[in-house]
Amino acid sequence: MESGTAQRSADSASSRGPHGASSAGSKGIEVHNPATGDLIASLPIDSPATVAETVGRVRASQPEWEALGIEGRYQWLGKLRDWLLDNSDRVIETMQAETGKVRADAANEPTYLADLINFYGTRAAGFIGEESVRPHSLLLASKKLRVQYRPHPVVGIISPWNFPLILALGDAIPALQAGAAVVIKPSEFTPLGLAEVVRAWKEEIGGPDVLECVQGIGETGEALVDAVDFVQFTGSDRTGRKVMARAAETLTPVSLELGGKDAMIVLADADLDRAANAAAWGGMMNSGQICMSVERIYVEEPAYDEFLAKLTAEVGRLRQGQDGTSYGKEVGAMTSPNQIGIVERHVDEALGQGARALTGGKRVPGPGDYFEPTVLVEVDHSMEVMREETFGPVVGVMKVRDAEEALQLANDSRYGLSGSVFGERERAERIARRVECGAINVNDVLVNYFAMDVPMGGWKQSGIGYRHGEPGIKKYCRTEALVITRFGGKREPGWYPYSKARRRLIDRLAPAFSARNLKRRLGLRG
Ligand code: NAD
Repeated sequence: MESGTAQRSADSASSRGPHGASSAGSKGIEVHNPATGDLIASLPIDSPATVAETVGRVRASQPEWEALGIEGRYQWLGKLRDWLLDNSDRVIETMQAETGKVRADAANEPTYLADLINFYGTRAAGFIGEESVRPHSLLLASKKLRVQYRPHPVVGIISPWNFPLILALGDAIPALQAGAAVVIKPSEFTPLGLAEVVRAWKEEIGGPDVLECVQGIGETGEALVDAVDFVQFTGSDRTGRKVMARAAETLTPVSLELGGKDAMIVLADADLDRAANAAAWGGMMNSGQICMSVERIYVEEPAYDEFLAKLTAEVGRLRQGQDGTSYGKEVGAMTSPNQIGIVERHVDEALGQGARALTGGKRVPGPGDYFEPTVLVEVDHSMEVMREETFGPVVGVMKVRDAEEALQLANDSRYGLSGSVFGERERAERIARRVECGAINVNDVLVNYFAMDVPMGGWKQSGIGYRHGEPGIKKYCRTEALVITRFGGKREPGWYPYSKARRRLIDRLAPAFSARNLKRRLGLRG
């Protein structure tokens, strides 16, 4: 899988290229600013033994954390929320330096996390509180039935580089709220922002010893998979397969949030200004390095020319570069040097096969890893740029006969993460229901990620499991059914000793409850 870039760096185990992280043999990780190429930090790699020791330590603290209960844990997480809000400038700056993001893209992370802490803090009791269940049969009338949700003691989170906090802490928050201890391995390209938050949890907030991070490449991730009780992985499907195979050895459950190739459908009756502006933002935001980025656009024939003109104008206006704290640019650098190579290959291959770039189309020369915001036309599904995850500031636009053709093309993908449909609301909604993916937006893009009330997860090769909503916290729990006898004699009718007389009694009683007509209830044949 192409976007397994970090792993390729791990495989090489040597310094490679001027920008981004590199694994410098056994020495450690070097973190570069992708906007300038400057080295900004070097970190030691945590060995498998250190990972096991770290997991063992937080495991020892977990029972006390669980015993705090939902409200007690929310109080601690509320302190983390307050710290994130009070220190957001510092955290955003660190993330800008390690990712090359523009300010506005980095600024979303602390606010999302604060919202998420409140969401799960106030809803956890409803999602994972003990449930009382009515027995389905009178034969169980003497039993009290309960279901309780107990956390997997230690959750391991392995995260990618495109949203260093959202995709690491964003999964840690529901796990911690559920009562688990958490150890995170951030991407080797972007380890700094998360390390700062974990340090603050321990040193400034004084939080219990249930949140840790370990630093490293693939080997560190593997050691984490071996040591924990549940794995939450976000990254490429290539690495996701390895993680799942590794976890199978210890029968450790996994949740995988993988890649995407999201489609946008523009119907002829859409508000074309809104659709074009959404396509530009949904395709270029975070330099297109979002699993849910708009990568493919299918436009009904009558709207095609006008939509394309508006989209090309909007993308052509985008300002690219570093903006410090000014919010003066829209498109930042590509965080991983390997990824920009993939983007360049997809675009060059498409251009070589007859596609045209209406704007953009090439890597920006000079220091830093920038790729021009690009709109491609005359593309088709024989091209990688329409089939494989590009994960860069590139959209391919195709003219389609009608909505049926748009749907057929949108669903012609091994991925199924999310998507969007623009058009008259009722018609767009009908089409949206037929797109094969885990989340679909009508007349908007990417917004489902902030609607944390509803689950988000990939179909097909985009993943297994869900984040957000009730499943996003329940997955961190094991279900325990409690069947409690309220009254009963010395023996139940089915216990020893067996006898014909007791069996006859059971045979009489059972149809009385399970048969659905009077004759059979009375023990007569139907
Ligand atoms: P990646 O798969 O290369 O790496 C992800 C993480 O896995 C990194 O921390 C890496 O060090 C670690 N890793 C590498 N080899 C490992 C191994 N053998 N065992 C355990 N861990 C290992 O992904 P990336 O390039 O960092 O991120 C980009 C990918 O992430 C894209 O495909 C993107 O679509 C996907 N993504 C998905 C979502 C989602 O929610 N579905 C969100 C963001 C990104």
